Amino acid sequence: MSTANIRPTSREQWLARAAQLSIRSQAFIDGSYVDAASGQTFDCISPIDGRVIAAIAQCEAEDVERAVSASRCAFEDGRWSATAPVHRKKVLLRFAQLLDSHREELALLETLDMGKPISDALSVDLAASVRCMSWTGEAIDKVYDEVAPTGRDELGLVTREPLGIVAAIVPWNFPLLMAIWKIAPALAMGNSVILKPSEKSPLSALRIAELAIEAGIPPGVFNVLPGFGKGAGEPLALHMDVDGIVFTGSTAVGKHLLQCAGRSNMKRAFMECGGKSPNIIFADAPDLAEAARAAAGAIFYNQGEVCTAASRLLVDRAIKDEFIAEVIAASRKLQPRHPLDADAPMGAMVDEGHLQRVLGYIEQGQNEGASLALGGKRVMTETGGCYIEPTIFDGVGHDMTIAREEIFGPVLSTIAFTDEAEALRIANDSPFGLAAAVWTRDINRAHRVARKLRAGSVWVNYWDGGDMTAPFGGFKQSGNGRDKSLHAFDKYTELKATWIKLTP
Ligand code: NAD
Repeated sequence: MSTANIRPTSREQWLARAAQLSIRSQAFIDGSYVDAASGQTFDCISPIDGRVIAAIAQCEAEDVERAVSASRCAFEDGRWSATAPVHRKKVLLRFAQLLDSHREELALLETLDMGKPISDALSVDLAASVRCMSWTGEAIDKVYDEVAPTGRDELGLVTREPLGIVAAIVPWNFPLLMAIWKIAPALAMGNSVILKPSEKSPLSALRIAELAIEAGIPPGVFNVLPGFGKGAGEPLALHMDVDGIVFTGSTAVGKHLLQCAGRSNMKRAFMECGGKSPNIIFADAPDLAEAARAAAGAIFYNQGEVCTAASRLLVDRAIKDEFIAEVIAASRKLQPRHPLDADAPMGAMVDEGHLQRVLGYIEQGQNEGASLALGGKRVMTETGGCYIEPTIFDGVGHDMTIAREEIFGPVLSTIAFTDEAEALRIANDSPFGLAAAVWTRDINRAHRVARKLRAGSVWVNYWDGGDMTAPFGGFKQSGNGRDKSLHAFDKYTELKATWIKLTP
């Protein structure tokens, strides 16, 4: 039997599988893999051990022109945009099946590319990507347009139409999943899509381009342009013939892209950005030991490189010391390991630059007077990779830099509060508003606090609930628009009102 059919279970087996991968490194435009027009490439480096995986096409303005013109041509001739919903449904369901049948290969690409544990890549990134694609495909022929409630002398039709060309610019922390959250609803609604993956994690995006064709998405409808933000992302954001830009990434770049939309053709612009999420523990939490384990997982999962990471732990002063002791005990078990080990709790940071940025925040926390209660150091240097141990600060003032800025790494800031009002004040005193949690057994307090938290997702007595059936996105500078659920379709369609005069 070929080893390709057996799911690897050890690091050695995964490494053997990695050695057999044939990596897609060219851009994907109009149904074909092509070099960048300039011929330039950039190195894709694995943060696991610092090895160069591939030389990736470095797309720039000329490649953007090629992709936009292929997308426009595909959109106007209706090869996808004019097909029946039931056809698009069938194709997206096939696409979901293909993602599923390639899940080990795609998970391996994610882990090699950005360093997350392979077990998480499989059980979270791939599972959620398949679910998003299939859920969205299933929904296509169940979404109705509307008839306005008019008098009998007229008929008012309210219909959704695709935007046209949608550019999707995505980050590296969940490379495939963040892309699928955009491209599934964009394709479902009949748009042409140009995906620009992060320069730090282009591999899975390039691989799924050919799976899209195999699923039945016509050439030109789905294009992938690897490259840097300035070189490839910005020409998309400023392009006069791109109709929508959807983005997941940092708040600073999100704000910049809103300006690009305003400076060009007022393209529809939806930004999903950063967070600094508060996890509020009241003394009457139903199970403090469980809350402590969850608090550790909520910050250290994915090396802390999660937009919703519970990076601010707000704890009732009455229980703070014993609670932090439990969080520290749980966190000690989450040390980074080689990401291809099946039970690695944490993997590698995405690259050397990001690792240094996170270490800089740890130093700043100490300089500003917070007390380092766990970790704080780079580890596993002998691997040539980028690893940081779980790090916990106690005694953090909520105006300190580590309590205000998004670190996007395994660094927890603990802040004590005295009562509910103070907890809410601290939780909401942030430019971000992506997610929050409250732990209490008092149902009235749970509702009261949940309602007052300024965040797009609020969890009561757990962390990180969610599903395709509910929208996901942020308040304030965590973004606008929503991914997931039927609400996501709003970003990829224009509403048209058509009025017909009738003779009663
Ligand atoms: P980033 O903003 O640096 O980059 C995101 C993408 O934007 C990349 O593809 C990058 O190449 C591109 N880009 C950068 N500069 C650009 C420019 N001038 N013009 C056009 N494109 C440009 O973010 P990142 O470091 O890749 O990702 C981390 C950020 O993503 C964090 O802030 C995190 O909170 C956020 N994030 C948010 C969500 C969410 O759903 N809200 C989900 C995941 C990650």
